[in-house]
Amino acid sequence: MPLYVDDLAAYPDLAPEGPPIKGCHLLADTRDELHTAARHLHVPRTWFREPDGPTGVRWHYPLGPQHRTRAVRDLGALQLDRAALAELLRTRLRDEAPPARDILDWHDSRHWDPTGDQPCTLCDKPTPLRAHNGEAAHKTCAEAWRADHPGETRFVSDAPTRSTTDHA
Ligand SMILES: [Zn+2]
Repeated sequence: MPLYVDDLAAYPDLAPEGPPIKGCHLLADTRDELHTAARHLHVPRTWFREPDGPTGVRWHYPLGPQHRTRAVRDLGALQLDRAALAELLRTRLRDEAPPARDILDWHDSRHWDPTGDQPCTLCDKPTPLRAHNGEAAHKTCAEAWRADHPGETRFVSDAPTRSTTDHA
């Protein structure tokens, strides 16, 4: 629902010969909301920017100072600083990314049964792998089962080892 604008900044590249042009970005949670807001502001559709690339999430309209004022005053756009905007874009990227299959971490040696293969309880083909509960199961079979049963804990990963690289 919300609209967002970031801080006005100079974009000298837009007018290398003249005074720096000040502008900002108008964003929304959905494209529909964004286009509707632009219509209210009488911003032409041709201003819409949808950068290419794997992170093509920065769709926005560039706004000058007057449009920015009206977006805030008339449409209730939230004013975000650069850091908040970056956080918003990260959230959007996460939401738009296709759901990744959860890969189980079964590095612990107890997942390997030295006494030999047993039929996987999911696909019946022999496997030396064991789940935490002792069930014979291929790791890939268990991952597929988890994808089909979100929220259930029949198959789980090993407890994570402490990582010092967890801050972005
Ligand atoms: Zn299997």
